[in-house]
Amino acid sequence: MNQTAVKDARAFAEDLGEFVKSSPSSFHTVETVRTHLKNNGYVDLCEASAWTDIAPGGRYVVCRDGSIVAFALPVDASGTTPLRVFGAHTDSPALKLKPKSSITSHGFNQVGVEVYGGALFNSFLDRDLKLAGRLVLKSGEELLVETGPYLRVPQLAVHLDRGVNRDGLKLDPQKHLQPITGLGENGEHDVLADLAQIAGVNAEDIAGYDIVTVDAQAPQLIGSRKEFLASARLDNLLSTFAGMRAMAEHECAADGPIALFVANDHEEVGSASRSGAAGPFLEDVLARLYAALGASDEERRRAFSRSIVVSSDVGHSIHPNYVERHDPANHPVAGKGPILKINADQRYATDAHGAAFWARACALARVEYQEFVSNNAMPCGSTIGPITATRLGMTTVDVGVPILSMHSCRELTAVSDPYDLYRAACAVFSPEISANI
Ligand SMILES: [Zn+2]
Repeated sequence: MNQTAVKDARAFAEDLGEFVKSSPSSFHTVETVRTHLKNNGYVDLCEASAWTDIAPGGRYVVCRDGSIVAFALPVDASGTTPLRVFGAHTDSPALKLKPKSSITSHGFNQVGVEVYGGALFNSFLDRDLKLAGRLVLKSGEELLVETGPYLRVPQLAVHLDRGVNRDGLKLDPQKHLQPITGLGENGEHDVLADLAQIAGVNAEDIAGYDIVTVDAQAPQLIGSRKEFLASARLDNLLSTFAGMRAMAEHECAADGPIALFVANDHEEVGSASRSGAAGPFLEDVLARLYAALGASDEERRRAFSRSIVVSSDVGHSIHPNYVERHDPANHPVAGKGPILKINADQRYATDAHGAAFWARACALARVEYQEFVSNNAMPCGSTIGPITATRLGMTTVDVGVPILSMHSCRELTAVSDPYDLYRAACAVFSPEISANI
């Protein structure tokens, strides 16, 4: 990389850190993305209103809970104009507040939590955490709320767990992951009262909540030459940020595709929800969008058949301490560019046409990419790609950025990869490459 590129990549990584700071929960993320897109000419669409104002040349954003869709229409968009979709997800593994969450035990105030997604339990120990998410009042009004450093799950001292370094750490998610929030006697503390005070409402008015824990430490550049960004929620705010920036800067060309960005909630728990990728959100938006363009059912299906979904999520960089866990021939390395994800069992949706499209996008962006495939003895996770492909029938390719510490409370990416992913995302929307499927 030349010096300008290094500077651009570092500035982009620092912006990503700021994005993570302003997006501690999926609901905050939607608000951050929506605000950024609106500042770049996108107009809100409300699901409950008629979408009579949609017109070619317009840019729109739609939110549903912790998910968001934005699209930009070329001036000559018609019922057969295909889509270029860049997809990501807004949620991350976390501890999530239970009902009756204020507990007192032996002089300590604690909060009851359940585990959200495939969290690495140990990474939540001895880390200063905050709470973030949404409150819903009896009136139905929804408020975002975020505490400062508020809680911690203290690890048992080595003297009281003599075998831990030899035998490994064993954590019971019910007994051992309950965070402490303070000192006090029975009935004195009420986490909802604290959240209500921050939100400026009465605790008695809170009728529902979706609140998760998140690392209270700000993201920061680390390493001997600041090669890394250490941060909470890189999975998958990294892709969400890259897609949002590409979408904000995208200018539709006449005769070009419709650019669409989707970031779904609930990926970490299987995507099956009204806002998750297995739910109808994107399909609902597309049905209404094509109806507004005057498309018949047949025309919309013709458009879909020439559309492409690029589903972006983090992947595994080779770990220098565990090289044997990776495929012997495919060693993606953090800092060497985004990845194309391949899996025979369709845990990733990539097929030969999707791979060829990604190759064209990266070539246009002048981005080197790497290939990821699992060691056969280590089945990989999945992402929104195969689910979206199954729902919409569009050619889909799974891509991402190779990181370390995936599903840790604080993950690690090379500084250069998010910027390269963003450049490739810009190319995904470009009419200069053909979908050619
Ligand atoms: Zn992910």
